[in-house]
Amino acid sequence: MTTNRSGALSACRRVVIKIGSALLVDRRAGLKKNWLDAMCEDIAALTSRGVEVLVVSSGAIAMGRSVLDLPAGALKLEESQAAAAVGQIALARAWSESLSRHEIVAGQILLTLGDTEERRRYLNARATISQLMKLKAVPVINENDTVATTEIRYGDNDRLAARVATMVGADLLVLLSDIDGLYTAPPHVDPNAQFLEFIPVITPEIEAMAGGAASELSRGGMRTKIDAGKIATSAGCAMIIASGKVDHPLQSIIDGVRHSWFAPSAEPVTARKTWIAGQLLPGGRLMVDEGAERALHSGKSLLPAGVRSVEGDFLRGDTVAILSLNGQEIARGLAGYDAQEARQIVGKKSIEIADILGYSGRAAMIHRDDLVMTMTKNAQTGHKEKADA
Ligand code: GLU
Repeated sequence: MTTNRSGALSACRRVVIKIGSALLVDRRAGLKKNWLDAMCEDIAALTSRGVEVLVVSSGAIAMGRSVLDLPAGALKLEESQAAAAVGQIALARAWSESLSRHEIVAGQILLTLGDTEERRRYLNARATISQLMKLKAVPVINENDTVATTEIRYGDNDRLAARVATMVGADLLVLLSDIDGLYTAPPHVDPNAQFLEFIPVITPEIEAMAGGAASELSRGGMRTKIDAGKIATSAGCAMIIASGKVDHPLQSIIDGVRHSWFAPSAEPVTARKTWIAGQLLPGGRLMVDEGAERALHSGKSLLPAGVRSVEGDFLRGDTVAILSLNGQEIARGLAGYDAQEARQIVGKKSIEIADILGYSGRAAMIHRDDLVMTMTKNAQTGHKEKADA
């Protein structure tokens, strides 16, 4: 487990920096150009030390909203799609201009949920981003909000940034927003809230601290940041939550300003398992008994005999979440059977499958090679230990 955090940002190989809308865009005045210029100076300082930087920049909707002079309050889906169409042009130009002052070329990448959730498209997006980095350009990434619909979207750039970080094998993800880190309770509500500097593992207790707050300009609250942390750390990528409300926020982190550090898993899983674990919308849920839970923790496949119930509608090969009897997600995997077949063989011995289904399918409901633990055994009981996937 990595506990040495000093200089992590300047010493890392590849970093993804996520910037919240409120840092870049002022409700009335629009783009905060001075802030962006200072940020690009920090990025240039990192790249000159050989750190590869990727930016996930929010702000398209906020910027479009300011350009179009849309009223305050929640926007309808079509309004935010239109605002993003206007705002993304301005946002990309601002990044490109500000980075070019340091002779850095920016490359815009707009992703939709399918670009990370479908394996073929994921590999394609990864290849494009890698090529950009090979050419020494800084990818400036956002969700393609103009085509995203309510059902098919990230909606927040925290999880998008974590998916990007794992996609490119980054060793660090930095989430910059208007809060300087994780507290035991939302600090604006609870004056006794304690700041947490070091989070060795994301336990259910840590998740419970996240609350659900989001500001008017941005969608993500602490909840989506913790979700991002789970995606990133399980893939061996550390995460920092820090305030971006200062000029030169990256330099401030290097100089030791207070922030929360989420340690990466000591045993990162393979790229394919990283992709399975980070899926945002598992197609179904399998509830398993205690025996099966123990078997999974010791690296075994999930057999139909250990499954108590099947929820959802999924096809063979879709990602499903595996829940313990208390409803806690413990693992994810690629289903060996369609939902309908899975329901028929729940609780049955593997040798009975052929008789029930009329063909001899796989012995496992989910094969161990297609399975990744998302919650450690000891994390559930409050002790701290890493997932062994
Ligand atoms: N993609 C949105 C935008 O650029 C921001 C989402 C978020 O706030 O995390 O406006």
